[in-house]
Amino acid sequence: MDLLINNVRLGSEIRDILIQNGRFARIEPQIDPAGLSKAPQTLDGTGQAILPSFANVHCHAAMVLMRGLGDGLPLHAWLNDIIWPMERRLTADHIYWGTLFGCLEMIRSGITAVFDMYWQTPQCLRAFYESGLRANFSHPNIIPPGQPALDGLRRDLEEHLALAKSYPARIELSVGIHALYTTSPEMRATCREFADAHDLIVQAHVAETKRETDECLQSTGKTPVEVFDSEGLLNDRFIGAHGVWLTDSDRQLLATRGAAIAHCPSSNMKLASGTFDEGAARRAGVRFGLGTDGASSNNRYDMFAEMRTAALLAKASTLDPVACSAAEIHRTATLDGFKLFRLDAGEIAVGKAADCILVDLDHSGLVPGHDLISDLVYAATPECVDTTLCAGQILMRHRKIPGEDEIRRAFREVATRL
Ligand SMILES: [Zn+2]
Repeated sequence: MDLLINNVRLGSEIRDILIQNGRFARIEPQIDPAGLSKAPQTLDGTGQAILPSFANVHCHAAMVLMRGLGDGLPLHAWLNDIIWPMERRLTADHIYWGTLFGCLEMIRSGITAVFDMYWQTPQCLRAFYESGLRANFSHPNIIPPGQPALDGLRRDLEEHLALAKSYPARIELSVGIHALYTTSPEMRATCREFADAHDLIVQAHVAETKRETDECLQSTGKTPVEVFDSEGLLNDRFIGAHGVWLTDSDRQLLATRGAAIAHCPSSNMKLASGTFDEGAARRAGVRFGLGTDGASSNNRYDMFAEMRTAALLAKASTLDPVACSAAEIHRTATLDGFKLFRLDAGEIAVGKAADCILVDLDHSGLVPGHDLISDLVYAATPECVDTTLCAGQILMRHRKIPGEDEIRRAFREVATRL
């Protein structure tokens, strides 16, 4: 159904906005619904501003199941001692309800697109579909070096792709390579061939910790980025999460190949992995978006917190108050992120995908309202989001998401059985 948003603030103007077929069709001072060929559903935008929704470019949504467990450990101990043993016990129910509950939190924070990586692809795809979000999902393929499991990997990739294609276009599959230290060159070659053959994005964890990067240099003589490049994986369909330990030549290589980084400031700080140098990445022309990572290492799916953290971290780590402006990081969290999904979204303009939020201008962080983007980055919290729309579909209105009570109940119940 067409949607008409009345009387909403766009920049410094008050506008009526018509959404048709999931896109912004008209943005005008006034649109008379009587003059439209079909009667639209109307939303009153009085007292609200319309803004692009957020693109979360690195997440493990179902890890909200483990939120609060193992806090305070270094990455490798956290993975080996807490997360991986627990993940071996996860059932289909855990994954399905965990993913769906994670989606609730994302919708509340105004996210409408997510790059996710997790186990049990069928459960995750179903949960993302039912949430109404756009998701580009990958299985975090992990194969111990030398294990001849390549036929199984090929079969899984084929099956997962067929399943993803049975859903609407907002549900997409990408190819997951958990990290260099958990995969073999043969396995990565199989992933590359499959991704190239089907024009799929590759998601990987790259240069997240100093230990990972040092061990890679010792064993191969190359940085993680150089290894991915030497294996033909570095191109404009590659998204590497974290990118904390990049050299100048890594950044040049990423920029030349058009490969992207998922900047996950909260996760990198919490696991004490280090700092992604966003200023150096911008200067080198590296594409990057903003990611929450999983809720076990953040511990929230909140792009407001991520924008604020990224901006403050950039300033504190460079002793430069001009580093990473509010406008820059807001663009990273919206327009730049959507580009990594290969989506024409992230702006409120005619012809763009209608992924947007309506924020309540009476929210305390948005008052007095001298600079809306500054307020969003530094002062607001997800509670300012009144309405979330994905491709013109209403996922949340007046902070109510259909079915949320049942999802929360079921999630709590399965999380106690971990
Ligand atoms: Zn991750």
